[in-house]
Formats: sequence, C-alpha cells, structure tokens
Amino acid sequence: MNKDGKVKDIIMPLAADGMKQCTKCKETKPVSEYYILKYKVKNEVRYNSSCKKCLIAKQTAYRKQNSERISRQRAEYYKKNLKSDKPYVYKIIHKPTGHFYFGQTTRIMNVRINEHFNSPGHYATGLSIFLTEENAEKKDLEYEQFFCETEKEALNLEKKKIIENIDNPLCLNRNPW
Ligand SMILES: [Zn+2]
Repeated sequence: MNKDGKVKDIIMPLAADGMKQCTKCKETKPVSEYYILKYKVKNEVRYNSSCKKCLIAKQTAYRKQNSERISRQRAEYYKKNLKSDKPYVYKIIHKPTGHFYFGQTTRIMNVRINEHFNSPGHYATGLSIFLTEENAEKKDLEYEQFFCETEKEALNLEKKKIIENIDNPLCLNRNPW
C-alpha cells in the first residue's frame, strides 16, 4: 500500500502452467480469464493483476460512482446556467407565418426551445404544441422577453398579454379563462 492508502497495481510474476492467481479475489484461474496488459515487457506476455471478472466489477463500480458525480454536476450546471435570473413572459414569433404565442417560464429561452427540438412532443406544453402546429424550424423563430420580479407577476402579465391579443388571428394562444 502506498502513502495515499491506495493499493498499488502489482504486476504479478508470469503465470505458471497457464494459471495465475488474481490479486483481488485470490482465486487461481487460467490465463484466459485475464486481460493481457497493453504494454509489453521484453516481449513477454503479461497479464493484468486482477482477473477479468474482478476488473469488470471494478470498472462497473467506477462508472456508477462517476455517473452519480456527473448527474450531480449536471444538476448544479442546470441550476446555475439554465435558469433565468428572473421569471419572464415571452412572445415567440414564427417568422414565416407571423403567428405568435405567449408563455411564461423561468427557464432560459434558448434552452426551452432546444428541449422541444431535441425531443419533439416530449414536453406537452403550450410552447411545444405551438412549435409542433407551426411545424417550426429553429431558424424561423424569434422571441421577445418581458422580465418580472415574481412568478405571480409573470403569470398576471402573461394573462394580460393573451387577453390583449386574443382576437388577433396571428395569436395562437387560446383563452383559458
Ligand atoms: Zn479476481
């Protein structure tokens, strides 16, 4: 063991009679149960110190540990970068038709739009329905944002804008009230 408390990777002596003991599970197994080390030592065939079974178990555990770390980092990244500082009402415009749609969110607008294009139909929200009905392409979209202090304020502003535009045939919001 080294000073970090980690077990050093030990290169075992050459296998005897095609058999070799695994440093991990201590079982003596045929060399076919070991991976050959990639680097060569004086043209000798060397095997990994752990058998295939132990090595795979170690890699699986490592990946599992790693994936937890990655998903935690993703969650932190999301929180930090994908959320808008303030809630807002957006007006998204499909340029070829002039149709537009109001919504409100705390997500960053481009992220919200990309979600739809990355998995169409997955998000059964008003925005996704609008984009699907318009058969919209990302390049044909533009949007305006109206930032608010609170989500309640954003909800009220959204309602106000929809009511103001409900008789406009270009506005694709339905009156939910
Ligand atoms: Zn083993």
